[in-house]
Amino acid sequence: MELSFYPILAFEESKLSPNLGYLFRRQWLDPCESVVSILWKFARMNRLPGHMVVSHVARQKVDPYEGFAATAAELDVRMTATSLGLPHKAIRLAMVRPELRRGWCSHLRFCPRCMSRGYHSVVHQFESVPYCPVHGCRMENVCRSCGAIGEYLIKASVLDAPFKCPNCRSNYGYMCASFVHRIPWPPRDRAAIVRAFIG
Ligand SMILES: [Zn+2]
Ligand SMILES: [Zn+2]
Repeated sequence: MELSFYPILAFEESKLSPNLGYLFRRQWLDPCESVVSILWKFARMNRLPGHMVVSHVARQKVDPYEGFAATAAELDVRMTATSLGLPHKAIRLAMVRPELRRGWCSHLRFCPRCMSRGYHSVVHQFESVPYCPVHGCRMENVCRSCGAIGEYLIKASVLDAPFKCPNCRSNYGYMCASFVHRIPWPPRDRAAIVRAFIG
């Protein structure tokens, strides 16, 4: 019995069937949030292993341990939006087309205070933005504990370490990211990140 049951389970898991009951709330998101940040929340709240999420949102068959760039050319926008219950536009805005933005950084750039909140923005990926528009912190691109360069990829090891360094598991922020219970950003901070996004 078990032998015949297992392949069905495996199939369901590979499809990430909504029957498994995803949990995702729009109020966990802040403006201009990056798709990596959004998928970190999706993976953590649904206790999904990174490799499964990578395969689910990839436009084509990929090796989830190699991963792919967080762009609309490689990510299945429709599938991702449907799974998270978000409008397609929200997913597209979470991925800037690098060819349209000069100074796009392919590695992870982050503000430690935003990471403490459980937030990473597409704006943080712009080389032209040296300081976080909200906190004024200088943007960082390596783990403070182990010195590993952060990866900005839809990749199993990255999604398995939400708001953390995949290499040593230290927080990128100053504390463990909490995005479920947090104080909403004041309008001034929201406006600051949107202004930087529009550039
Ligand atoms: Zn910040
Ligand atoms: Zn590290």
